[in-house]
Amino acid sequence: MSDRHFEIVIVGAGAAGLAAGLAFARDGYRTALIGPLDSPRDGRTVALLNGSVRFLEALGLWPAIANHAAPLETMRIIDDTGSLFRPPPVAFRASEIDLPAFGFNIENADFVEILAEAARSREGLTLIDGQASSHSGDSELAHVTLGDGGSIAGKLIVAADGRRSRLREEAGIEGRTWSYPQTAVTAILAHVRPHRETSTEFHTRHGPFTLVPLPGHRSSLVWVTSPEHASELSALHDAALALRIERQAQSVLGAMRIDGPRGSFPMTGMAVDRFTAARLALVGEAAHVFPPIGAQGLNLGLRDVAALRDAVIDAGDEGEDPGSSNALRRYQRGRDIDVRLRTAAVDGLNRTLLSGYLPLDFMRGAGLLGLATIGPLRRAVMREGVLPRMGTPRLMQAAV
Ligand SMILES: Cc1cc2nc3c(=O)[nH]c(=O)nc-3n(C[C@H](O)[C@H](O)[C@H](O)COP(=O)(O)OP(=O)(O)OC[C@H]3O[C@@H](n4cnc5c(N)ncnc54)[C@H](O)[C@@H]3O)c2cc1C
Repeated sequence: MSDRHFEIVIVGAGAAGLAAGLAFARDGYRTALIGPLDSPRDGRTVALLNGSVRFLEALGLWPAIANHAAPLETMRIIDDTGSLFRPPPVAFRASEIDLPAFGFNIENADFVEILAEAARSREGLTLIDGQASSHSGDSELAHVTLGDGGSIAGKLIVAADGRRSRLREEAGIEGRTWSYPQTAVTAILAHVRPHRETSTEFHTRHGPFTLVPLPGHRSSLVWVTSPEHASELSALHDAALALRIERQAQSVLGAMRIDGPRGSFPMTGMAVDRFTAARLALVGEAAHVFPPIGAQGLNLGLRDVAALRDAVIDAGDEGEDPGSSNALRRYQRGRDIDVRLRTAAVDGLNRTLLSGYLPLDFMRGAGLLGLATIGPLRRAVMREGVLPRMGTPRLMQAAV
């Protein structure tokens, strides 16, 4: 069977793959996106931070997303560890760094559906509803074999096939994996009191318990806790679970009701030592996985996509094709520090919560106290949390 030829072939139609397809097609690259267009409803939401919002605006997607998303204007952290060095609650306001909101929270399934809808009608983007079974690359071209035996060729393959990426493994890029003694329980909640566009994160000994605003009197829950406790919570019927959540939340949002699907995610991490192989680039969870703390995962994935787009365009300006070593070298250089820093920061914070070791508790408490009281430090941390200052991809910068 003969190859169908594209400039860019993306494998995996999750949020990262769809965003990549839309971004490359927008810039006029003949692009194919391989993978089923579906996203399970599992109570998971994604908080899209400021840089991601700009990127989605540039892709023309923001008005549709904004209809389903709630702004995050304030982020509150409450230490509920019972530690000796318990710092006072800390609140970060987006207005302190001259932003109307840190970002916007939306159900992951809604977000993916909006991207999929846009992808169906995007000129220059061919959707192939199949599974990639293997790939190979040479100095000129890469080929992806489909489950039905067909094959697709491209100058660049983008592996957006998630945490268990088959393409990553085939390309010989080792994914170092680890796990945490934690599971995240997710749910969508309706509540009596308004959230006032504030997300509240209680730091407990088993991990963070976080309520994030959704439109109306609704919020999403990410309750990171021990696997045993998570199983017990997951076995509860909706009314009993809602009561447990309300108690754990110290009734900050009043009485609650489960208002949608629930989910459960074992906490794992994964890091790679390189983001590229011959004619192949990793993006999204194919390149990095860490616990859902601080809303970093998909925001980092969208930065991968926006950075890859810049690398491909810059290599093109020098007469090189999208999968050339020039393009891949630029991409690798741009992603290394950002991904390593985020992975280490999330991992470090999570482990200080779990340890119960006094010196670590002290450091965490002192860190939060410093953030509460030292204005320039707070603002620097807020800016860095929303978007790294160094190497911001062009479509994520203020003036696009
Ligand atoms: C509880 C929880 C809360 C979170 N909250 C946030 C948040 O607030 N902010 C944030 O930024 N991030 C958050 N994240 C992280 C975020 O959800 C993930 O980073 C993101 O969904 C990963 O998207 P992806 O496209 O990289 O991978 P996936 O969503 O896993 O997509 C991979 C796709 O590839 C497809 N695929 C796999 N293999 C093949 C193949 N061989 N051929 C074709 N297709 C294939 C799959 O079907 C799938 O569609 C959270 C995660 C969790 C668990």
